[in-house]
Amino acid sequence: MDFLISMLFTSLLVSILDVTTSKSIEQIDLSHYGPRLFGNPSKDVGAAVEHWNENQSGNPEELGSYLEGDILFPRGNARNGLITETSRWPNGVIPFEIVGDFDARQMDLLEKAINSYHDNTCLKFVPKDTTNKDYISIQSSDSGCWSSVGRIGGRQVVNLQRNGCLTTIGTVIHELMHASGFTHEQNREERDDFVKILQQNIKADYANNFEKAPAGTTSGFGTTYDFTSVMHYSDHAFSSNGQPTIVSKKQFDGKMGQRDGFSKMDIEKINKMYKCSSTTTSSGYKPQVSVSSQSISGGIEDILSMIIPIHDKPHQMSNGYKKKSIL
Ligand SMILES: [Zn+2]
Repeated sequence: MDFLISMLFTSLLVSILDVTTSKSIEQIDLSHYGPRLFGNPSKDVGAAVEHWNENQSGNPEELGSYLEGDILFPRGNARNGLITETSRWPNGVIPFEIVGDFDARQMDLLEKAINSYHDNTCLKFVPKDTTNKDYISIQSSDSGCWSSVGRIGGRQVVNLQRNGCLTTIGTVIHELMHASGFTHEQNREERDDFVKILQQNIKADYANNFEKAPAGTTSGFGTTYDFTSVMHYSDHAFSSNGQPTIVSKKQFDGKMGQRDGFSKMDIEKINKMYKCSSTTTSSGYKPQVSVSSQSISGGIEDILSMIIPIHDKPHQMSNGYKKKSIL
């Protein structure tokens, strides 16, 4: 009898530990940001991003007055109050809707960014249906490029202003990576071993955009510091005087602040965070569960039919779906 009770207790303990462990694995600690996470979308940021072009140094998401430029938990969102943590998306599934006023070229860029996730990671962006309580809503308000970090619960916005945020695919991938649960690369806790932050060149009041994450609050998932991460600021981010704000202490190949797409280590980090299993084929990671083109096609059709207005020709998606021309 004692033995049975002991067995029962042990299995109970194991299941409690399982729950505790899996819970802690799923959580993303944001406590060090405090109330700075919260704010309101700003037309001033929108105006700055509106005038951004590819020829100027830096990226449009570095023009925001939000936390670290583009991290924003709008006040009045699903989970109001002080958020100290968010979480990962269960099974790597991120339901989405597109409600922004995007033209065909911009829709094409969005599709390419999502396809890049599907080709390289096991994250799955699936059109939201009525059963999805938590989802991202891709919008296009004139407030710049921004997202919250991780899954908040309920509807959460990823904003991509039409002029500025949909010029390079890397900006779209960057904001979706925030929504997936990642913060900025240059603020990793060990970054001082790799880069020097030139405080004297940073715009007044923007120094805290370069604050390091406190030890133990973030994880690089076994990857080393990545100068070429799509989550790294450009070397002139938030400069007050045209001089660099970040200089590397080590040699690296590529460009700091690139927005051409995922770096190799970005892919590695996502796949580790979401415990994707990888293969060693030359084409890289193959998702275990592929979303059928049938389900994407039907879902996107439903979503796109809700987009108003569309000032463009019908958009032919690679899965054969043709977006309705509303105007
Ligand atoms: Zn960002």
